[in-house]
Amino acid sequence: MSKRENVRDDNRDPLDPSAQVPSKIPAGLDRRKFVMRSAVIGAAAVMNGCTRVETERGAPPPAAEAAPAAAAPPLSADLNVVKKGSGPVLTTVDEFYKVGPGPSSSHTIGPMRITYDFYQQATKLPADKLDKATKLQVNLFGSLSATGKGHGTERAALAGLVGKEPATVDPKFLDGLRDKPDQVFPVKLGNKSIDVSLKDVIYDATKGDFKHPNTMTVKLLAGNEVLLEQEYYSVGGGFIEWKGYTPPTKNPPKYPFRTMKELRAHADTNKTTIAKIMLANETSITGKSEAEVNAFIDKIINAMVATVKSGLSMSEDDVLPGPIKLHSKAATVYKRAMDDKYQSDRGIGALSAFALAASEENGRGHLVITAPTGGSAGVMPSLVYGLLEVRKIDRQKIRDGMLAAAAVGYLCKHHATLSAAEGGCQAEIGVASSMAAALVATAYDAESRIVENAAESALEHHLGMTCDPVAGYVQVPCIERCAFGAVKAWTAYAIASNEIASRHRVDFDATVIALAETARDMNSKYKETSEAGLALSVTLC
Ligand code: SF4
Repeated sequence: MSKRENVRDDNRDPLDPSAQVPSKIPAGLDRRKFVMRSAVIGAAAVMNGCTRVETERGAPPPAAEAAPAAAAPPLSADLNVVKKGSGPVLTTVDEFYKVGPGPSSSHTIGPMRITYDFYQQATKLPADKLDKATKLQVNLFGSLSATGKGHGTERAALAGLVGKEPATVDPKFLDGLRDKPDQVFPVKLGNKSIDVSLKDVIYDATKGDFKHPNTMTVKLLAGNEVLLEQEYYSVGGGFIEWKGYTPPTKNPPKYPFRTMKELRAHADTNKTTIAKIMLANETSITGKSEAEVNAFIDKIINAMVATVKSGLSMSEDDVLPGPIKLHSKAATVYKRAMDDKYQSDRGIGALSAFALAASEENGRGHLVITAPTGGSAGVMPSLVYGLLEVRKIDRQKIRDGMLAAAAVGYLCKHHATLSAAEGGCQAEIGVASSMAAALVATAYDAESRIVENAAESALEHHLGMTCDPVAGYVQVPCIERCAFGAVKAWTAYAIASNEIASRHRVDFDATVIALAETARDMNSKYKETSEAGLALSVTLC
């Protein structure tokens, strides 16, 4: 170990603000901002091997002294997604990797899971209540209302309301809703049949005092009488919560961890890999066998391969839905890349084409896999397809890679966010690229430190990336951004596997803190509202 590295105190927890906040808060400074700034500076001090004073001297002035920026509305402290960062990570693969209709985990998969959940609850109401029912109604608020039309939120919400399951809905059903929006569907609830249509999904207030930017309500009515009502939140990555939500009780993990540092320590102490630690936790938390966990991961791998193949089969003449009139280009990019003179160009071109293919499928509203979201649904499939179908890497290594990638996604969800409405595109493509870097490193049997370094590097170089989808459609910049996310993941692995791992100066946990802080400070115009950036500067004609 070099002299410089000895300065690092590896016993300090960079995610524990209490260890980093000096007792004295300067007069006139907001305590929360000061605490968070101190946490970031403390983490930076740990990363850099500098003392707090040295780091603080070089830090920018506190936010209270800087020019005021338009603040994003705060999330409610009641939400589990806000409280979650304190205990060990308990997320499991079947919660994390979800199959559902694109183009957005928060705007289509989440809302469809919400209305499907409501539909299932409604079917369980007593018969005398159901006999009175006359109407089902969905109200969309905040970002769901602001950009929902571009995402097809109303179609996804209606599909769940009529009892279609997100993971198995036929994309043709959703295409049919787009092509014939006046269709009416009978929903059978007990003895009653209630007609519903897209008119029952209402785009409501875009601004207000919501617990989460992606808020919606679903009601079963008897005239003006409310028989059943629930307020829901689509909190990112297809995860949903509702008013009064309590997370499901789970068994304790075999290897509890809150940070990458703790996760890696388990792997290193037990002389095993991050993937094996994750597999042990999956079985201990859920009670499932290893074979059952692997069977689920195989389903996700197969779905990822299928989405790339399906996207590559579309011709350049295919035009994606919406006003941008974007032509599919995955197949063309792939074919032309194969003719490139240099092997490296062929590799980058192919990787980009695979990401474009899966992402274009998302743009079509077809089935995609949240890894971690719909907007980023091209990144992981690109690497999975490339490793499995092109390089013919053993499937078990891909399974291990999926588990290591999940660990990266869980930690970002645990301490920061996967929602563009909360954190911009760094929370979607940035996290996806970081996951994909961990996948590649694991598939190539890299040691745990290299897996961490690759994931860190990919996330670091997406920090600050805004979300400003043109016309509210998850197409521009989203589709090409998936290709960049995939290539950056490969670059991150290339650097991490060729540098001296112990000299990598930025640890993953510090970058997750930066992700969370940047998400908090980002102007709300850049959080999936289509109010700024490319959404304003691109003119459609
Ligand atoms: S810009 Fe990024 S975060 Fe926003 S919708 Fe597109 S992919 Fe998602």
